Amino acid sequence: LLDFPYEQVLVLGLAKSGTAAAKVLLENGVKVRINDMKASEDDPGVIELKSMGADVIVGSHPLYVLDEMELIVKNPGISYDNPIVIEALNRHIPVITEIEIAGRLAQGSIIGITGSNGKTTTTTLTNDMLLNSGQSVKLAGNIGIVATDVAKRLAAHEKMILELSSFQLMGTQTFRPNIAILLNLFEAHLDYHKTFENYVEAKCNIFKHQTEEDYLVYNADDEKIVHAVQHAKSIKVPFSIREKQPHGAWADEESIFFRDEKVIGREEVALVGDHNVENILASISAAKLCGASNEGIRTVLTTFTGVKHRLQFVDNIHGRLFYNDSKATNILATSKALTSFNQPVILLAGGLDRGNNFDELIPYLDNVKAMIVFGETADKLEEAAQSAGVKTVVQTKNIEAAVQRAYSVSQAADVILLSPACASWDQYRTFEERGDMFIHAVHTLK
Ligand code: ADP
Repeated sequence: LLDFPYEQVLVLGLAKSGTAAAKVLLENGVKVRINDMKASEDDPGVIELKSMGADVIVGSHPLYVLDEMELIVKNPGISYDNPIVIEALNRHIPVITEIEIAGRLAQGSIIGITGSNGKTTTTTLTNDMLLNSGQSVKLAGNIGIVATDVAKRLAAHEKMILELSSFQLMGTQTFRPNIAILLNLFEAHLDYHKTFENYVEAKCNIFKHQTEEDYLVYNADDEKIVHAVQHAKSIKVPFSIREKQPHGAWADEESIFFRDEKVIGREEVALVGDHNVENILASISAAKLCGASNEGIRTVLTTFTGVKHRLQFVDNIHGRLFYNDSKATNILATSKALTSFNQPVILLAGGLDRGNNFDELIPYLDNVKAMIVFGETADKLEEAAQSAGVKTVVQTKNIEAAVQRAYSVSQAADVILLSPACASWDQYRTFEERGDMFIHAVHTLK
């Protein structure tokens, strides 16, 4: 652990990342106290941590757990409104996340990726481009792999491709990726961050500690980002889908470029959607800065059809193209999906009712020829579809029935798109489960 000045640390919230952080700290001779609301004394994980010397307090968050503590490693999911966190900040005890620990551990280099949307896609693309160029890379972070576990074993010649959420970034102190990617900034998670400014500040932690030796890849089409990166010390690598970028990546109608060099024709790219062109430009920039080959990059771009549940191409059945965008749990994401297609679309949408209406979706329904709606929001979506003049609107009880109905009203060359614009929890446990039901239903059509 590089330059770690703390001797007594409280790990707040165990889960996978807290457990990993606690172990690393114990292995490095730090005194560790752990406080978790849900864990119990006889969990095997708790027993192991105790045997390593941790002081473990479970079941409640009594304020005394803060006594003598010099640092808090907080699980990103725990709110800053939690009384322990409030009290820690009152006592001027720094609050970090496990990402800071990972940054202090990693021997190899780090590519950090953040933004409101497109993180997982960009992380996956970057990883695959480097892998296909023969480099040693490891995925980690918000994508579902604990960063500390990866950082611990990262050799000097290896790279960690790290997806970072605003929650994780809010708790960094010295974290400094060799390459940072900032994709876009939309209003998000205001319940956690309170204000948009705070949210932007957390995202900007990705480059805050970078130096003149590091690179910052950023979206030059996003005014908020251009403003936010003004004072960054790092070497700036802008990307744009609007204009040529001599120092970064850019696209025109036909091709995708890095600096002066054409990397690939847009026709050859398997992913659909302008938003994905942005993700591709960001990944190409990072990959090229790491020395990836055009061949490696092209192999990925001609074959990668999307991260599962993110505008993922599923199948072509009798000329109908099925796409699974179950991750689209709000109107913004569904509008992005709809603008990705020129062909007629049959849209499957609906889910948890959060009390909003769907008026903002109406302008995007121009090439939607039919809408199959389900879930709690079925009535509201039907209303929006009718206002938009969608010819066929049908309510069904679930995804399977929706797929059947969609197929029955479709013709060859139509796109049949699941992009629900709603969370799944009224009918499905997760958006993944909903997407899997869709994929299954599509395959049974065969
Ligand atoms: P994240 O990991 O940030 O949630 P994903 O790569 O999983 O992002 O994509 C989630 C959804 O966000 C996609 O289904 C798509 O609708 C939308 N999206 C992806 N990339 C972008 C982008 N660059 N700009 C705007 N929206 C995007």
